[in-house]
Amino acid sequence: MINIRDKYSCCGCAACVQACPKDCISFEEDEQGFRYPFVDKIRCIDCGLCEKVCPFINQSEPLKPQKVYAAKNPNDEIRLKSSSGGIFTMLAEFIIDEGGVVFGARFDKNWEVEHGYTQIKEGIEAFRGSKYLQSRIGNTYVQVRDFLIEGRKVLFSGTSCQIAGLKLFLRKDYDNLLTIDIVCHGVPSPLIWRTYLNDIKSRSKGLNEKKSVSNPLIEVPVITGISFRDKLYGWKKYSIVIRAESTCKENKNILLSSMNTHEDILLNETLDKNLFLQVFLNNLCLRPSCAACPAKSGKCGSDLTIADYWGVASHHPEWDDDKGTSLVLVNTIRGCRFFDNLHPIYTETTYFEGFFGNPSIENSITENRYVSVFWSSFRKEGFKYANKILRKSSPLLSRFLFKINRIYIGIKRFLT
Ligand SMILES: Cc1cc2nc3c(=O)[nH]c(=O)nc-3n(C[C@H](O)[C@H](O)[C@H](O)COP(=O)(O)OP(=O)(O)OC[C@H]3O[C@@H](n4cnc5c(N)ncnc54)[C@H](O)[C@@H]3O)c2cc1C
Ligand code: SF4
Ligand code: SF4
Ligand code: SF4
Repeated sequence: MINIRDKYSCCGCAACVQACPKDCISFEEDEQGFRYPFVDKIRCIDCGLCEKVCPFINQSEPLKPQKVYAAKNPNDEIRLKSSSGGIFTMLAEFIIDEGGVVFGARFDKNWEVEHGYTQIKEGIEAFRGSKYLQSRIGNTYVQVRDFLIEGRKVLFSGTSCQIAGLKLFLRKDYDNLLTIDIVCHGVPSPLIWRTYLNDIKSRSKGLNEKKSVSNPLIEVPVITGISFRDKLYGWKKYSIVIRAESTCKENKNILLSSMNTHEDILLNETLDKNLFLQVFLNNLCLRPSCAACPAKSGKCGSDLTIADYWGVASHHPEWDDDKGTSLVLVNTIRGCRFFDNLHPIYTETTYFEGFFGNPSIENSITENRYVSVFWSSFRKEGFKYANKILRKSSPLLSRFLFKINRIYIGIKRFLT
């Protein structure tokens, strides 16, 4: 039966939970808001299936892609709503046109993230855009298997460890399955996001209450949309935008954040100003397993890997319009076949060029040495001291060493 040695060796893919024939593994949030499996030993029959499907126990060898492309969706409106070049939407539309089913990560009613599926084009929009928190996978692997057995084409997209979990869960290759992993820095804690969002809401409530002295009709705004990668200021200087429906009927012009320009924007902060994005990218609130990822470098066995092509300005400057360019790694013959059916704007590039600006393709994060300080302060005071910890945890020296390390890795790759 599954027995997690430590929290670094479980990515929360839930393959074990879905594979258990006795339904005796529950999946519960720990004190950091990440889910882990717990076995009911009384009901367990010791069949070992949960171990057979675990991506940590059954890691594959790394694989280099067969082809590498820089690619963009020709529809600029969709590209601007996507996190990179909008290639996911093209693949998803193709599968739906073929009568297939598309799985991906979308917001639930509480603005947390879950995996789900759609069989219609209108449903793709909910999967569009990166959501920076770990998605709940639910029983989607079981649903995928059912659709595959029916003979339907299925596209499953998710983080590399979710793809690894799905493939192990299925335990056989299906020709009607297309798997896409997104290159993944790591997943932030749903608890951190929940707390952050509640703080934003109560901050807005406070502001509204002040305004309601002159206008008693103003109430707490209801969130209508969240974009973790809004391109209002461009793809590279991305911002987090939270939109809200104002319940104020008379005064539609409330400004709840210093950078707001629209009446319905609750928060609009660029990466360099936003606390949540900074805590995420400084590796303070990631799932511990992201420091020992079992599925990067093609180990998950996906057909296609998609990412931001951060090196585009250096390697293909004529492509760099700051609206987003995707890096597409084509890993399998099936992936080649699907990519050949699309009509994106694309050009071939090299693995080295793609990797150079995007070390997350191969490298797990290095856990911030202030992680435990962050969590204990968060438990006591919420985000009160987060700024202080951020200042301490990203001193100039570590940033300098990080850059040197990236250059070193790039040169090493180039020479091998
Ligand atoms: C947590 C996280 C970390 C990332 N880190 C990197 C990185 O370090 N380097 C990099 O190049 N790219 C990273 N990305 C991926 C990148 O931001 C783009 O999402 C990806 O390149 C696809 O872009 P697109 O424009 O083709 O489509 P988009 O429409 O932007 O992408 C949507 C796709 O992302 C999936 N998705 C969105 N949120 C989640 C989630 N929480 N869990 C699982 N799947 C999700 C959807 O199911 C869909 O397949 C990350 C994404 C996430 C969610
Ligand atoms: S050993 Fe079998 S029955 Fe026991 S938890 Fe694992 S899958 Fe379930
Ligand atoms: S990594 Fe996945 S399969 Fe392995 S124990 Fe964790 S949730 Fe279960
Ligand atoms: S870094 Fe690896 S372990 Fe962490 S969520 Fe991404 S794919 Fe999973």
